[in-house]
Amino acid sequence: MITVTEALDRLFALATPLAPETVPLAQAAGRVLAREATARRDQPPFPASAMDGYAVADAAAGDSLTVIGESAAGHGFAGSVGPGQAVRIFTGAPVPEGATRVVIQEDTTRDGDRITLQANLDAPTHIRPAGSDFRAGAAIPAPRRLSPSDIALLASMNIAEVAVTRQPRVALISTGDELVMPGEDPGPDQIIVSNTFGLAALLQDLGALPRMLPIARDNREALRSVFGLVDDADLVITIGGASVGDHDLVAPVLAELGMEQAFHKVAMRPGKPLMSGRFGKATMIGLPGNPVSAMVCGHVFVAPVIRALLGLGAAPAPRRTAPLAEPLAANGPREHYMRATLGPDGITAQGRQDSSLLSILGQSDALLVRPVRDPARAAGEMVEYLPFG
Ligand code: AMP
Ligand code: MG
Repeated sequence: MITVTEALDRLFALATPLAPETVPLAQAAGRVLAREATARRDQPPFPASAMDGYAVADAAAGDSLTVIGESAAGHGFAGSVGPGQAVRIFTGAPVPEGATRVVIQEDTTRDGDRITLQANLDAPTHIRPAGSDFRAGAAIPAPRRLSPSDIALLASMNIAEVAVTRQPRVALISTGDELVMPGEDPGPDQIIVSNTFGLAALLQDLGALPRMLPIARDNREALRSVFGLVDDADLVITIGGASVGDHDLVAPVLAELGMEQAFHKVAMRPGKPLMSGRFGKATMIGLPGNPVSAMVCGHVFVAPVIRALLGLGAAPAPRRTAPLAEPLAANGPREHYMRATLGPDGITAQGRQDSSLLSILGQSDALLVRPVRDPARAAGEMVEYLPFG
């Protein structure tokens, strides 16, 4: 059995970043920027008014000025403003040459083409200098998962297409004679497949393209035929059948099909029968069948592998720390990922930790990480956890 850290290192050795592709900006949200993007212009490209009012040149409180024209958004004033003059101006409009500030319209009174500035003017100039948001050449560094804010910034930089890492294609294979799809009529000895759905959702969140293959029954032929559908996947994930029972055929069938196994067992709870290797061009991860084990391994192993494939670097799932709200007993020889809730007093491990209990997973906010042979811990001691979402 190897440690979680060793298992991750071996996975990272298999999962090299995918190539970039170019996509239109409207399809770039959530994708990983593969190459630095640089602004193609200054923003604003001209000194712009921040308010509706009058652009004036060195005018003082109480002055009377002549309105000589108008500058609206998209339609600037061609001339310049001199002493004794004002240009009617609106938000986003170019500030005419010669103007040193915009007086907001609330601070003026107008009579025909004359305005009078009130006695107390506010301090700001209400002018956004050219390039005050960003300058041409300003960079958004890569790699970076593009947020809605990034997309807005890229658009205003006049970048219509971006280079992003290709999305990892992930084939998901559940194995077991007992499994039927949600919505089907299960036989008396059957249960509903849950892991492929949970993992597909996790993969989508991570920016991958999951594809559910048909459920493979617990016989060599069925497994072989489903593996035949893997096609061009970058990552193949099997679920279940990875233990050492008579019906656990994933490892032997994959070996027959030429998989080079990187490891088979990891010292963790839940999730000990975890397998990995190279299967053709794809990385292969064999997850345990117990629903919570599969989801925990999804957070601990699959998510970092997807981030590595996306070019976001080879790093374990980020951890946070919190005080224990309640004491914990000593941990054994395997790293333990305990379903836990977060509250005002800190983090609390759930009372029931059986790896089949999806309801408990659904009520949890995080996985509290217990290191190998961690001693008993008192309330208030700091512990590490992996947050969900
Ligand atoms: P296995 O690893 O195949 O021995 O499965 C361990 C446990 O997980 C068994 O109770 C299976 O019925 C259950 N299981 C396996 N695969 C799935 C799945 N895709 N969805 C839900 N439960 C599963
Ligand atoms: Mg099974």
